[in-house]
Amino acid sequence: MIIRKIETFILHVPVTRNRIADSTHTLTHWGAPGVIIETDNGLRGYGYTGTHAHLATDRLIRDCIANVYAPLLEGEDARGVLYLWQKLHRNPPVQWVGRAGITHLALSAVDIALWDLKAKQAGQPLWQLLGGAAAEPLEAYNTDGGWLNWSLAELVDDCRRQVEEEGYRGVKIKVGREHAAEDLARIEAVRNAIGSRVKLMVDANGRFDLPAAMRLGRHLSEYDVTWFEEPIWYDDLPGHTRLAASIDTPIALGEQLYTLDHFRDFITAGAVHFVQPDAVRLAGVTEWWQVADLALAHRLPVVAHIGDMVQVHVHLSMAHRACRLLEYIPWLRDCFEEPATVRDGHFLPPQAPGASTTLRADALPRFAVD
Ligand code: MG
Repeated sequence: MIIRKIETFILHVPVTRNRIADSTHTLTHWGAPGVIIETDNGLRGYGYTGTHAHLATDRLIRDCIANVYAPLLEGEDARGVLYLWQKLHRNPPVQWVGRAGITHLALSAVDIALWDLKAKQAGQPLWQLLGGAAAEPLEAYNTDGGWLNWSLAELVDDCRRQVEEEGYRGVKIKVGREHAAEDLARIEAVRNAIGSRVKLMVDANGRFDLPAAMRLGRHLSEYDVTWFEEPIWYDDLPGHTRLAASIDTPIALGEQLYTLDHFRDFITAGAVHFVQPDAVRLAGVTEWWQVADLALAHRLPVVAHIGDMVQVHVHLSMAHRACRLLEYIPWLRDCFEEPATVRDGHFLPPQAPGASTTLRADALPRFAVD
């Protein structure tokens, strides 16, 4: 499986609800800069990372893959995924300018493409190659109805619809409105609409300072909120540690952490209860699995950040022992040959060999930019 050809791409795909917002981001499109790695036996591995479809920064990621990593990969045996991860990550000039950030997002795309190849070569879906079993259903919770720019009525209607018509047993809503009373009113209304047996999570996307997070956080247990996600600035380790010690509701975070070392610090400090690694911010499957093992060693549940936008999370969550639940936001369905699919509140096990990252033939003509 000698690597013969490396192509890059940038996709910008419209989000399903036209224009959505959380406390810190407003989006019309999701971005997926990525790579196709072809080997001498004719297999093609697909990998991509996730962005807010900002062309200038997407180009930096693409150029990092094409100009920095591709020359290090050409002629190598694609089966040596862990060796290649190390070769790219510990390359001295790369390490000097970026042990996180754009170089790491670019490495995630490469690593996922290599795991896609490995599973295709084995003739198995990745979850099976990693030791998972279809007999264990993976529960989905939905975030695509909880946007902060929606009115209270839209929010409540959509959460109710997800539970009653689509069979979800968990929903997540965004918080971070101007006044805490508004956030609490939205949480209360959704809790009343979905009933007491459905999981309800809230996500502040890093918006609050510590006092504001403590003020809202103290009330969350009144509504049986399963977790308070990214309450304060992503990198604030002491702040999250103090918050975790001062409220009853568990803390969830990880979608903005780049490395195994970041996760080690948050986990060992007791600053996180639900660990949310993202394989497209961490450097791919390889580092995601290391983080999930770390969480398992601390007996913490792992709930990866987003299935669909990160197709490979379905495979990883089906296989890893710390996972029972996965987020679902179906924005990239039209891009893939086998998109992540939820039925009755559970993900269907992918069937095709690989990591479910293979692009449909019309994905590049429809969504590629630049
Ligand atoms: Mg989140």
